[in-house]
Amino acid sequence: MFGGEEVEITPGMQRYIDKNNAYLAKRDKYIRETVKNWKFDTIAVHGLYSVEEAIEDYQGAIIEPIFMSASQAYRDSDEMAAALAYLIPTWCYSRIANPSTYYYEWMLAMLESYGFDGETGCCSTSSGMAAIMTATQPFLVHKKQHTHEPRNFLATAQCYGGTFQQFNVRLMEERGIECRWIEDPTNIDNWASKIDENTRFLYGELPSNPQQGFFDVPAVADLAHSHDLPLICDSTVATPALLRPICHGADIVVQSATKSLTTSGFGVAGALTARKNLVSNIDNDDLKQDFALYVKYMPNRDYGPNLHPLQAIMTMNDMRTLRSKMDLLSRNTMKVAEFLQTHSQIESVQYLGLPNHALHELASKYMWLVDAEYDELYGKPVNRYGHLMSFCVKGGAEETRKFFDGLQRIWRATDLGRIKSVATIPAISTHQQQGEEGRKLAHVPPNMVRLCVGGEHADDTIGDLDQALNKVGSKTAVAVS
Ligand SMILES: *Cc1c(COP(=O)(O)O)cnc(C)c1O
Repeated sequence: MFGGEEVEITPGMQRYIDKNNAYLAKRDKYIRETVKNWKFDTIAVHGLYSVEEAIEDYQGAIIEPIFMSASQAYRDSDEMAAALAYLIPTWCYSRIANPSTYYYEWMLAMLESYGFDGETGCCSTSSGMAAIMTATQPFLVHKKQHTHEPRNFLATAQCYGGTFQQFNVRLMEERGIECRWIEDPTNIDNWASKIDENTRFLYGELPSNPQQGFFDVPAVADLAHSHDLPLICDSTVATPALLRPICHGADIVVQSATKSLTTSGFGVAGALTARKNLVSNIDNDDLKQDFALYVKYMPNRDYGPNLHPLQAIMTMNDMRTLRSKMDLLSRNTMKVAEFLQTHSQIESVQYLGLPNHALHELASKYMWLVDAEYDELYGKPVNRYGHLMSFCVKGGAEETRKFFDGLQRIWRATDLGRIKSVATIPAISTHQQQGEEGRKLAHVPPNMVRLCVGGEHADDTIGDLDQALNKVGSKTAVAVS
């Protein structure tokens, strides 16, 4: 497994392999026959950690233990040899794996593939940016050693500022790997016309931060697959409670778990979830068969962008209430968006939930509150659009800053996904470094405010926005009822 030298298997090693195969068979049966039958909330609450396991192995701890240990000891040389040749599941050293991150990875893999009838794997990372790096780098290798063929990839220009910089500066400027930006990802010809024999993957963020860009995942996935390429999606803004791109054909999903997956704001974390047997024109069977395990055991072992076990458990603990939180936060955001839309100081509001948004219809095909049909409050499918929105203030950059400085309870911070409402002006913060031209390409005007609506009562959030907006402009704004 995983290249390298063929290891000679001693009878002692074989005993460990057999024992661990029995464990894997039991685990897979538990997933197949038990976990796969659970609703989303149950998976989010329990993941792979069972009562039986807790009592047998972990003194009944009802929360997954935090394994604050750099490494794992082995019973003897046979077990060590089998583990380090990756012949048995192991965590050996926390840069490669750790039991706490294992539970986090399984929970995300199962949430991200809820409703998907194939297998997925997940690899945790130290941040969302590390997840993007981990998801993309393996496709950018030179296909033959000592060759330097040109390489390119396609990506939606409407994306997180950090992603723009990673692609534009780190890959394109510093390493000569061409990023072909897609300005209108809803136009499939835009994607199709930019693919050639040197293309390695298609990348799209949806809904995009902060512009609320969106695209038709199955259409782009079909196009990618017809060229033997994978589709990678950044689904941070939606979370698996509202959108699961793998169910619609995407091969890999990256998450900044720092954001709505946690909401607590305790720290930074990320992950990628990949379907098994994904599509790629890279001649590497390990990579294609189980991408998440491949990157975990190979490139990430060597680069080391891994998640800390304490952060893994804290992140997972936040994820247990994901569905109900995303429902509440989405509903609050809808009320705020409706209010802003009627305000005389507001030029425009970008929120996919608004029926007059150009992409509302498209987003409504894919953004659903998971399991709403089993929720006694709803009893039928309901659309939810998340808690990120943006809007433009009348009067340009200066008036926008005046409004922004007037906010009293909404936090001014380059953050999102919090249970507390947070706002920023992307042009002077998250999207400052990409320059004016880059912001134009990404549809980020200077008077745009990004608002992530929290769990406060919507009336209080609206009250804060209203008083700050009323400080803008020479005349007092009149609130329209
Ligand atoms: C924040 C963010 C990232 C980067 O995640 P970090 O955890 O901050 O590294 C990537 N994509 C999107 C959409 C984000 O909002």
